[in-house]
Amino acid sequence: MTWRFALLIEPAAPEDPRTDFADTFAVIDPATPALSVGELSTQRGDGIFESIGVVDGHAQEVEAHLDRLANSARLCDLPEPNVAQWRQAIVHAAAASPATGEGVIKLILSRGVEHGPAPTAWVTAAEARDSSDARGRGIRVVTLDRGYDSEAPARAPWLLLGAKTLSYAVNMAALREAHRRGADDAIFVSSDGFVLEAPTASVILRFGDRFVTPEPGGAILHGTTQLSLFEHLEALGHEVAYEKVPVAALAAAEAMWLVSSVRLAAPVTAIDGAEMAMDAELTADFNRYLLSPRD
Ligand code: PLP
Repeated sequence: MTWRFALLIEPAAPEDPRTDFADTFAVIDPATPALSVGELSTQRGDGIFESIGVVDGHAQEVEAHLDRLANSARLCDLPEPNVAQWRQAIVHAAAASPATGEGVIKLILSRGVEHGPAPTAWVTAAEARDSSDARGRGIRVVTLDRGYDSEAPARAPWLLLGAKTLSYAVNMAALREAHRRGADDAIFVSSDGFVLEAPTASVILRFGDRFVTPEPGGAILHGTTQLSLFEHLEALGHEVAYEKVPVAALAAAEAMWLVSSVRLAAPVTAIDGAEMAMDAELTADFNRYLLSPRD
């Protein structure tokens, strides 16, 4: 990843009425160290983040990402983000993003430095990795047990399962396990046999003219890409649904995608070693739509 831009933010209170937060921003060199060694984001992964896709300098689905950032903050007992301040920081980052091609803007809100000051926040902009292979040729996936049952989110909210926290070590370990098994990616399943999500993407299944995704319900992230694609599918006259999806349904699906903000729609070509047909035409339509400017 080529970093292009980084901005440190002094988080403003949510009720701060300013319309210009420029004096709370400090542009820094993304190649030089900037965080305190006491940072709880690096010591404990204690913070939240968002990754926003950028296409030809346009940051995609900003409001959906800001809504999820606020939701993650609530779940993690972090101070509520001042949305106007973050929106302005995103405008700066988008201006520093590649004017043509794809980029990624990250928003990070950390619990801060141990014993204060707290919290800390920053935004970065970088060029996106090339995802054309995953989009065009598809990906092979394996199912991996996430190690909790579908009632765990209600029983143990401190697991923060619906928050996009910085603690992604488990998600990265699952990707390594998928690679060890000869696959490109993984789909987490609950210990009582329901489909959850991929380590960095949401799952969409097609059954005839019906498109289904596992209901968020606190166990998984509500993907902004999935939300946007469901709007697109509904506008095309298709039926969309949030459901509890049993693992057996994966084999019955006529097509399947992992969708996320930067890689966009990656069609699944094999699941646990069983080949699966990919819908090249619909995938191309999904990615054309996802690469068009979206607010
Ligand atoms: N689920 C997880 C665990 C993720 O990390 C992500 C994105 O990184 C997603 C789903 C998809 O979310 P989005 O479409 O907003 O990128």
